[in-house]
Amino acid sequence: MFKSNALSLLSIYGTDSSDDDDDAPGPSISMKRPRRDDDTNLPSKRLPRPDLLDNIDGPIPEEHIDDPSLHDGRIRTFSHKRGNWPTFVYIPIEVTCEMEELRTEVMQGIPEHFNFKRSVDLHLSLTKTVELKHHWIEPFIESLKRRNHCKKFNLVFDELQAYCNEECTRTFIGVSILHGHDSLVDLVNVLNQCLAEFHLPLFYDEPSFHMSIAWCLGDHKNVLNYILPELNFRLPNEGIANPRSWTVPVDYFVCKTGNKYFKFDLSDS
Ligand code: AMP
Repeated sequence: MFKSNALSLLSIYGTDSSDDDDDAPGPSISMKRPRRDDDTNLPSKRLPRPDLLDNIDGPIPEEHIDDPSLHDGRIRTFSHKRGNWPTFVYIPIEVTCEMEELRTEVMQGIPEHFNFKRSVDLHLSLTKTVELKHHWIEPFIESLKRRNHCKKFNLVFDELQAYCNEECTRTFIGVSILHGHDSLVDLVNVLNQCLAEFHLPLFYDEPSFHMSIAWCLGDHKNVLNYILPELNFRLPNEGIANPRSWTVPVDYFVCKTGNKYFKFDLSDS
């Protein structure tokens, strides 16, 4: 089975040991994007964890002027502010040939003029993207570590659904969840407690857990709500291109803050 190396390339920082990057937070895109396939400058082994507070040095512009043309026309959810790190928590999903097959069907089934693009790193979001002050990173990660008592579980995917970001600037085609909802809610509850502790926005009151596989600019949710049921109907009832036959084991989740990744293992039972 083909598996994308995107996730094997993903540089994940163990919560108790590693970190390889002392860049100050650069301007970042509001889209949650774990790490690009072409980020090849990755550590080959775990390195000692530096003092995070030592990492902010060098000149950081007070105000960053955004240029959407540099990132496929995407508009930032919030402007880059000195000392604020875009942060989100997610479950990374490895791309399998089944997922690629489904995605090819979807890309072929959607009218070209929407200009859908494949999502680069597949994941299932457990928080919104929030702004974390640099000096809160360490206590936030400690709070997550302390509260994380969640157990490993399996996800089973379901069918295609349309999503729009809160600013209505982008539309996503996602695959929703058939099984695993209760475990995901447990995780979100833990994460919401941490977010509340730091006065950060909580996840949706009614989360619609999904894995985005493609996105385009603009709000096209209504049109897609007509197109996707037809596409769902055309998917085989069983077999590899049917998300209901995919079981994805979830052993850990990741918190990405700025350019840093922290991994949180789930317990066995
Ligand atoms: P993601 O691929 O996780 O970034 O999700 C794509 C978009 O779905 C995000 O921009 C979310 O704002 C949006 N979304 C809209 N409604 C919901 C919901 N109820 N639960 C989760 N995500 C949602």
